[in-house]
Amino acid sequence: MASVTLKNIRKIYDKSVLAVDDFNLEVADKEFIVLVGPSGCGKSTVLRMIAGLEEITGGELFIGEKLVNHAEPKDRNIAMVFQNYALYPHMTVYQNIAFGLQMRREPRNVIDEKVRAAAEILEITDLLKRKPKALSGGQRQRVAIGRAIVRNPDVFLMDEPLSNLDAKLRGQMRTELIKLRHRLNTTFIYVTHDQTEAMTLGDRIVIMNEGHIMQIGTPQEVFERPANTFAASFIGTPQMNLLQTQLAYESGAYYAEFGGARVYLGEGDGTLSGKQVTLGIRPEDVSLVPDGEIPATTEVSELLGSNVAMHLRVGSETIEALVAKDEAAAAAGSLNGLSHTAVRLRFAAEHIHLFDTETGRRIELR
Ligand code: ADP
Repeated sequence: MASVTLKNIRKIYDKSVLAVDDFNLEVADKEFIVLVGPSGCGKSTVLRMIAGLEEITGGELFIGEKLVNHAEPKDRNIAMVFQNYALYPHMTVYQNIAFGLQMRREPRNVIDEKVRAAAEILEITDLLKRKPKALSGGQRQRVAIGRAIVRNPDVFLMDEPLSNLDAKLRGQMRTELIKLRHRLNTTFIYVTHDQTEAMTLGDRIVIMNEGHIMQIGTPQEVFERPANTFAASFIGTPQMNLLQTQLAYESGAYYAEFGGARVYLGEGDGTLSGKQVTLGIRPEDVSLVPDGEIPATTEVSELLGSNVAMHLRVGSETIEALVAKDEAAAAAGSLNGLSHTAVRLRFAAEHIHLFDTETGRRIELR
């Protein structure tokens, strides 16, 4: 078990591609950290630098107290599970899991004990004699994790381990990983581009974009208080609506004005009056009510089961609302397809997020 500390980590490929910059993160012992962001944002590069598979251009990397910038991968006591978990096709599950230990010339009885213990944890004991081709995708993935477990690493690194699985299996494996994590009780650093995986697995998540950290926080923190418009639109489905507006101030309170509406935001001293802001509101925080302040027109509705995703026009902007079926039926009369009905919306002030339009950063009213 170990903590992992990254200080001002930077990676430049081929003297020209700045893949990661100014990366600062302290992963606590036994913490499950998820690095999440769009493809190409530098997640795998960070993971590969921790593993020792990629040279670090600048900054310091510590595993526990030890500076490991130049330590060989084998001396870091970490195990990595990749998206493409190549198993040896001619070997049984048992042999696949045992292989690394055999290479290290561990005694047979020790290997046997470790393989069986890992199989037990992963619930694949009855598959030990099978060859990989006789396994499902999820079972193969478990074998790949088994190979990592037997090494008893201080830190587990996982790079998109579920992305080759279909949606249903991914959901199952996610639950398995949560259980696994509690059984193994060690440090995990997990890379994914999937925000649902990030939200469900991470103790904390690190949102990255273009080689930089956008926000670090617990899933709840980044969801409830996104630090910038990038984090706001990356986390949460459907995506948060972002509307351009200007802050108006009157008698001690701020308002946002757009599309013929005036929305109360909260109290303050007026110093932000006239500021150009981006107003964020999640689709589930938009309600359709007869006395709502915001006039809107329905455009397309999508029935999703118990909810309806409604695309609405407000002035020159399009916004999405996720509302209960009854609410949609009462307000718009139609649950699916095209429509053109005048409705009224409300954004509850406590669910409104404000960002500086110029910098994209979150602002608090004052
Ligand atoms: P992610 O894992 O978030 O998809 P990566 O860490 O793989 O992103 O890549 C980050 C950036 O570094 C991308 O612009 C990518 O093209 C570049 N990159 C990754 N590996 C190499 C490499 N071996 N040589 C040059 N550029 C690379």
